[in-house]
Amino acid sequence: MSAKGTSITLNGRTYRWPERPVVVVCVDGCEPEYITRAVAAGVAPWFGEVVATQTSHLADSVVPTFTNPNNLSIVTGVPPAVHGICGNYFWDRDADAEVMMNDPKYLRCGTLLAAFAQAGASLAVVTAKDKLRRLLGHEMNGICFSSEKADQTTMGEHGIDDALSFVGLPLPDVYSAALSEFVFAAGVKLMESVRPDIMYLSTTDYVQHKHAPGTPEANAFYRMMDGYLARLSALGATVALTADHGMNAKTDAAGAPRIVYLQDQLDTWLGAGQARVILPITDPYVVHHGALGSFATVYLPTGADAGVGKRLSELPGIEVVLERAEACRRFELPPDRMGDLVVVSERHTVVGTAAAKHDLSGLDAPLRSHGGLSEQRVPLLVNRRTSVPADTRLRNFDAFDLALNRVTA
Ligand SMILES: [Zn+2]
Repeated sequence: MSAKGTSITLNGRTYRWPERPVVVVCVDGCEPEYITRAVAAGVAPWFGEVVATQTSHLADSVVPTFTNPNNLSIVTGVPPAVHGICGNYFWDRDADAEVMMNDPKYLRCGTLLAAFAQAGASLAVVTAKDKLRRLLGHEMNGICFSSEKADQTTMGEHGIDDALSFVGLPLPDVYSAALSEFVFAAGVKLMESVRPDIMYLSTTDYVQHKHAPGTPEANAFYRMMDGYLARLSALGATVALTADHGMNAKTDAAGAPRIVYLQDQLDTWLGAGQARVILPITDPYVVHHGALGSFATVYLPTGADAGVGKRLSELPGIEVVLERAEACRRFELPPDRMGDLVVVSERHTVVGTAAAKHDLSGLDAPLRSHGGLSEQRVPLLVNRRTSVPADTRLRNFDAFDLALNRVTA
């Protein structure tokens, strides 16, 4: 137990008590070029000033470069090998079932948010989609709600009654840029009223899935964000901003998706249904990516030919195939929640299960997605000067460490 005003030690790292409000922002799908292009276009002055005069790094996110594993790494300060959340789905071998990992019972360590709240800090968490809310708010006393369900908040469950009226914007559609804007609007309102000691804001990648860096739609989104971040800065907060993953076009020159259907391939080689392909990107909100990303894990039948991995790695568009132990060592993943093989596709290719299982009818723009090594580089910005040893490999889950421990001016 820590007392209010003293440092917190959690998951092997020590964090100083915040001297002023600290806001950590996870911009979903923020390929670094979105910021570069918005700054160059002159629509993001806050970003421009932070990049030019304060702290601006590139950092590595967690592979698989998906939303939940990275958000949980950011709020725990450790990789999925420790916190356990390595995707949206995993195959529970004991139950012989594919299970969603958005229940806190799958979380294997505490969060910084809960630890600071327990020590007496005031906390606020706002997330775009409700799927993250229970994981982020696990055992945390404070305000915690999603834009998606802002009309359903209660003091008992979310630490705030009627968040919708509090924020004063209409309830946004789950597939919209407004879902993320609501997060920032809520953050500014909270900073103006409650002024929490620590706030965590997490957006959705709806815009990044549809629009490339530098496009008018992307620049409009970063202009919107820039305005709110400037207000948080003006209110005296230390703002650290990072991302859960980057984003790339997963198409050929004509704009058609480039997809390797792993289940179909394995069924041809091994017999129908012998291997099981799990796509941890799969979630209830598939419209913008059709459950297609650049990372899969494969469960092989007992006695399967050891050459299957090599054959997969030779398919066009596949970047790397690793056996479980090697994949878990390299990407710091929990071995009991991964298959026998991990398959990562190249920058402009995704992996699917069987062609018949992916509904691409919802894709109204050329496919952009994430999940692989090609989406690992993300921005890590702080609106103050910080000091980091030159040879440090920065991770997105160093964001709290930077904001709480390494600010110099
Ligand atoms: Zn994401």
